[in-house]
Amino acid sequence: MPGFVGHTIANTAVLAGTTFVMRSQGWSWQDVIAVDAGIAIASLVLSPDMDLFNSKSMKGWGWLRVFWWPYSKLAKHRDRLHIPILGTAVRWLYVATLLFLLLVLFRFWFRRIGLSVDFDFAGDTDDIIYNALYLVDVFLGAVLADTTHYVLDIISTKLKRLVPRRLRDRYDRYAQNHYDREHRPPRGRAWISEEGQR
Ligand SMILES: [Zn+2]
Repeated sequence: MPGFVGHTIANTAVLAGTTFVMRSQGWSWQDVIAVDAGIAIASLVLSPDMDLFNSKSMKGWGWLRVFWWPYSKLAKHRDRLHIPILGTAVRWLYVATLLFLLLVLFRFWFRRIGLSVDFDFAGDTDDIIYNALYLVDVFLGAVLADTTHYVLDIISTKLKRLVPRRLRDRYDRYAQNHYDREHRPPRGRAWISEEGQR
């Protein structure tokens, strides 16, 4: 229940903390920025809440979220793909696959209209390994952000259980009313269950 704002605040704190710790341990700015980029991407565009088609993280994608429809169908909200590292890897591979397919499509299209574009990224092997290390930094940042998200989800659920049932029900009714007013269900589809909202 921390919601998008709660998760964003927590991950911003993680970003600031990571920057501070890494710098004080003498890491280069390049490494720090790569890790920070991973945290930012995982918080804003590749959040674990991408398994919920109506989530705020999803809305940020605008019409592009059609690409995420299969993912949100395959992954149940707060199921296995909410777990850090596993979920992180699956989401990043999902995007990599999409980008690869787009690249193949464009290549095919360019060839049809007779345009010759050199898509070969082949460089020095050393260069490739050197740059791949930055990708490791980015991924580690993303894992850090996803772990924070996961822990916050669990803590907030535990805290919620401590609240007396009567108050909880009242809040749930309030939240559902708000949701019903603010959102319209997609055509031919039922509301997502209360459980799914958390
Ligand atoms: Zn979540």
